[in-house]
Amino acid sequence: MSFDLVLFGGTGDLAWRKLMPALFQAFRHGSLPAGGRIIGVARDPLSDEQYRELIRSRFDEVEGSKRPGAGEFERFAQLLHFLRMDLSQPADYQRLGELLRQRGADVVVMYLATAPSLFACTVEQLAAAGLNTPNTRLVLEKPLGHDLQSNRAINETVRRVLQERQIFRIDHYLGKPSVQNLFALRFGNALFEPLWRRETIANIQISIAEDLGVEKRGAFYDSTGALRDMVQNHALQLLCALAMEPPINAHADAIRDEKLKVLRSMKAWTPQALSQHVVRGQYGPGTVHGESVPAYTEEPGVRPDSTTETFVALRAEIANWRWAGVPFYIRTGKRLAGRDARIVVSFRPAPHAIYRSPGNGANRLVIHLQPKDGLELHLLAQAQDGKQAGRVQQQLTPVHLDLDFDKRFGSERVGAYERLLLDVIEGRLNLFVRADEQEEAWRWVEPILEHWRNEAEGPRPYAAGTWGPSASSAMIARDGNCWLEEC
Ligand code: NAP
Repeated sequence: MSFDLVLFGGTGDLAWRKLMPALFQAFRHGSLPAGGRIIGVARDPLSDEQYRELIRSRFDEVEGSKRPGAGEFERFAQLLHFLRMDLSQPADYQRLGELLRQRGADVVVMYLATAPSLFACTVEQLAAAGLNTPNTRLVLEKPLGHDLQSNRAINETVRRVLQERQIFRIDHYLGKPSVQNLFALRFGNALFEPLWRRETIANIQISIAEDLGVEKRGAFYDSTGALRDMVQNHALQLLCALAMEPPINAHADAIRDEKLKVLRSMKAWTPQALSQHVVRGQYGPGTVHGESVPAYTEEPGVRPDSTTETFVALRAEIANWRWAGVPFYIRTGKRLAGRDARIVVSFRPAPHAIYRSPGNGANRLVIHLQPKDGLELHLLAQAQDGKQAGRVQQQLTPVHLDLDFDKRFGSERVGAYERLLLDVIEGRLNLFVRADEQEEAWRWVEPILEHWRNEAEGPRPYAAGTWGPSASSAMIARDGNCWLEEC
């Protein structure tokens, strides 16, 4: 199968930090179909050779084992081409059309790795130039829009010129091996299904903590914030994977239909819930891994008086038979105490205690997403040491069953973008988000944005290198619960 992958924004941060390394890995693994062409597009007047050199120089920043070896980059570089285009200029699309028609590849992927403000105009111009053919696939990066209205506007533009089966909305969390294992855990094994419900589960935590700040993306982040950047997409997709009913098969729409039902069942926000169950924060100066770091408002590209949130913690509920009354806590933030994305499923305690309780620390499943990829089942056991012998009511000790997927399957597993790019080329939609899912997620977060717009009080400050504002711990403590690192 031949393919052309047109990378709009081919010189941008996403292209060289994520997409090119992923395409190179797919090439190295032999999984990129032969007969492919990768066409970088931007306004710089680069030749193919200059573009190859630009990409080669960027690979120096890629981590060791993922860097091309001698001769490897030269072979990969044969796939790379460059086309200078200004996406606001209709004439430039004619030149793209000529380049694509000369070859007539079986599949043409248009990957929009540009600012979202260019999405609608690019899609309209592609159609005007006749480049929305049945073999076209369009990839849209997140965040798709700024709110429900802008999200709808982009989706409507795109659906006027392409069918839904041709549209690949990226949420790269869905491409992570750890997230695919979450689906495998739930729908490949019968073990947990009888327990996966309100009668046995007390609460679920989804925590996506980053120790990095905004790096070189201060201006982008400042107009986005944690709710739009992480909660509306990644965190809610994880929540769907945890809460959805088993799909009738593994087809894309069967999975997306079930995710959509979860989003539609999210309990609507009330004024009281908005003030008690949502915490926003912004990091001040602090120390991360022993290094002093500046406040968010001192980062390059960030407005000095910015009220953009770099932290969100919230308590959600799903109003359906399986989950009614079970709190789902979501927390995400930048410059936290560590880089750690995990899900904690806490089960209800034994209904009748015959042992002396050891307190918290057991009865839960911890699903590690990154950097560790694995599962821990926290149980109680009897240590049976000499000191306890002969006691009537023995003390139980928390123990872990620990499954490390990197150790089990090797750390050279297919990365998220590699997997998703291959899925686009091969036309698999399972790990992409449908328009209605996205709209429903925006509908649910919009009252929070609205509440913040009208609230005099800005985000709560927290010191970089901590787990966020104390109000986040207080929020979860009101239910008698705690974030995993506090329990
Ligand atoms: P970026 O570094 O600013 O890159 C933008 C790219 O678009 C550059 O190649 C730029 O090249 C090109 N471009 C801008 N205006 C253009 C025009 N009028 N015509 C043709 N090309 C134009 O942005 P980014 O960080 O890569 O982000 C790209 C998209 O990915 C955004 O939607 C972002 O939200 C999303 N995303 C990024 C990341 C990330 O880690 N970077 C993660 C997730 C999602 P020229 O200026 O030379 O034309």
